[in-house]
Amino acid sequence: MTKRYGNLINGEWVDGESFNMNVNPSDTRDIIGEYARASTAEAEAAVTAARAAFSAWSVSTPLMRHDILMRASKEISSRAEELGHLLSREEGKTLPEGIGEVGRAAQVIAFMAGEALRISGERLAGLVPGSDAEVTREPVGIVGVITPWNFPIAIPAWKIGAALAYGNCVVFKPAELVPGSAWELVSILHRAGLPAGVLNLVMGSGRQIGAVFTSHPEIDAVTFTGSVPTGRSIAKACVSGATMKRMQLEMGGKNPLVILDDADLDVAVECAVNGAFYSAGQRCTASSRFVVMDSIHDRFVQAVDRRLRTLRIGHALEKDTDIGPVVDQRQLDIDMQYIQVGKQEGAVVHSGGERLDLSTPGFYLQPTLFTGVQSSMRIAREEIFGPVAAVIRVRDYDEALVVANDTNFGLSSGICTTSLKCATHFKRHSQAGIVKVNQSTSGLDFHLPFGGRKSSSYGPREQGRYAAEFYTIVKTSYTSAG
Ligand code: NAD
Repeated sequence: MTKRYGNLINGEWVDGESFNMNVNPSDTRDIIGEYARASTAEAEAAVTAARAAFSAWSVSTPLMRHDILMRASKEISSRAEELGHLLSREEGKTLPEGIGEVGRAAQVIAFMAGEALRISGERLAGLVPGSDAEVTREPVGIVGVITPWNFPIAIPAWKIGAALAYGNCVVFKPAELVPGSAWELVSILHRAGLPAGVLNLVMGSGRQIGAVFTSHPEIDAVTFTGSVPTGRSIAKACVSGATMKRMQLEMGGKNPLVILDDADLDVAVECAVNGAFYSAGQRCTASSRFVVMDSIHDRFVQAVDRRLRTLRIGHALEKDTDIGPVVDQRQLDIDMQYIQVGKQEGAVVHSGGERLDLSTPGFYLQPTLFTGVQSSMRIAREEIFGPVAAVIRVRDYDEALVVANDTNFGLSSGICTTSLKCATHFKRHSQAGIVKVNQSTSGLDFHLPFGGRKSSSYGPREQGRYAAEFYTIVKTSYTSAG
């Protein structure tokens, strides 16, 4: 009998009316567990519980919030191997990637524990004689948290950790495909000492529970990470109800990695292969466009191809696996459709491009490198979200910059070069939220702000001390001695 997991509402674990099967994408015969699907009424009850808990939690001492978050962080890091195993089993990233992500969740929660102690404001002289002014930060209120499947514990941790540190209450809806890691995170935070109602878990349908988050008058803010179409629909709903909600939307990318002809080729290949194909290309910061100068193009493509041939695609939990499966049949179908679209558009599959049938039934795909790509092609413009990258050939740095910025997205970008002049110019003129020089476009530090431009992001940055911009609201008070 598969184990069943309930939702957390007002400090109680409750079963739903129905359950979702959590299936291992490396081996679809392996069912990880059954996870409750919350009804609309249960999601509403969670919001009510959060509101009831808010009056005490919002004025709790920073030390209380710090200590609870630190206890949770320590448990997460002490269980990193076990939780990493679960994460890799349900999402399909390799075991080192899964354990690494769990470590990141522990670090980000510890960082946010410290932020609880550092909430600060300003005191200024008022303009009227005898008047003082204070600028203080207060928690926003009840935050609806909606997360995607590709970082099953890190993204929930950096949103929930920040929300709690600043004194907000949370109603959390994880992605349907990866409820296991989310459930463990909530269970750890709950046992670390959160009062009932401060953190609630409502697993299930995005459309159904999302509608509660965007329409319920007691929800003050919604933080979302996911695709652009979902983000757009959340944005519309957040402003059309009786109470307009604060929102933070982190969405897709079509991130360029520019390779100039003075680049160290080994560095460029490592950045390209790591950024585009690890985690099966399923990272919002993945490099999906290689913008390569003509004079290094052939050497770069051959070197990437050689490196790809050394990678082992396989079961996420097997020791020698470099790249696991993609997350499910739907994502595999999307990837295969885009490979077809690329061929029809006239691009050439230089490496990979085929589904793999391995010893376990899973969603395996060869890392795929397209050459002969034009910036106008769909495979260069639309987010595929799989291990598929497109090489666009350019004459020089100036053309590379134009092509790199020729996108509706703007999350991360990178350049491989030994020219200080070009690196400095690119950092200033790349239209992305995050710019990397001689580094993979993926892989970011938890103490720094994270977010993009154009369609990739809407609202304040996440992470680091910049998280305060979303999770707190500024109050200006004036005082006269009377
Ligand atoms: P998705 O948009 O399909 O789903 C994200 C979440 O939204 C899920 O929990 C889903 O259940 C929920 N949802 C779906 N419909 C909803 C609705 N109508 N109202 C409210 N919630 C709804 O995205 P996904 O497939 O889970 O994730 C992949 C996407 O996430 C990619 O586009 C990727 O680039 C993006 N992503 C962005 C970042 C970032 O920080 N910018 C990080 C990771 C992933």
